Amino acid sequence: MVYFIRIAQRQFIRTILSINKTRAYFYIVFLKRYLRRHSSCFLFLRLAQELRAEVISPDLNIFERMKHSVYVLKSEHSFDSAHFLANYEGKCRSIHGHRWRVIIEIKSAALNTDGQLDGMIVDFSKLKKDLKEEVDYFDHALIIEKGSLKPSTLTALEEEDFRIVEVDFRPTAERFSKYFYDRMTSKGYQVKSAMVYETPTNAASYEEDPHGAV
Ligand SMILES: [Zn+2]
Repeated sequence: MVYFIRIAQRQFIRTILSINKTRAYFYIVFLKRYLRRHSSCFLFLRLAQELRAEVISPDLNIFERMKHSVYVLKSEHSFDSAHFLANYEGKCRSIHGHRWRVIIEIKSAALNTDGQLDGMIVDFSKLKKDLKEEVDYFDHALIIEKGSLKPSTLTALEEEDFRIVEVDFRPTAERFSKYFYDRMTSKGYQVKSAMVYETPTNAASYEEDPHGAV
């Protein structure tokens, strides 16, 4: 068995080296995805044979076969809040406010085929409601990174009855984009990307495996 695996690996490497860079890239993505689903080495051998067949016979186009289609839904909601960046040299170290815009894209290879949701990934109203719930958590709050204020300052702010939300990350647009990506994923969505605008012209986004299948 080990002997066959070695042959397969050699065959695979030879194949990868003999094809052009763009195609090689997609084959590697394909291989990773394949191995993630099937841990058997025997499948690796089959894959190597397939890749080799692809080079010998260009009509057998793996790239075409691995092409996939995807539906995407986009929803947006915004919140107003104050934050500051601790240990930052510049004006962002002072408390200031933003209207943060959060744009979520969810994806699916297939649509529902019956009932109320026929022809949809999910009802827009449900997506909007779920996003709003996450975003409203920060609305009209002072967002504070845990441990970035003196305990006495925090107590004084709380005594003023200010709405304070403590987070365990530095509250940048980048961190928020991952935060909302993770939150919507935990709600069961297949999230394509999460984008957070900190100002009308500056935004950060987070996505995972942009070349992967859905
Ligand atoms: Zn800011």
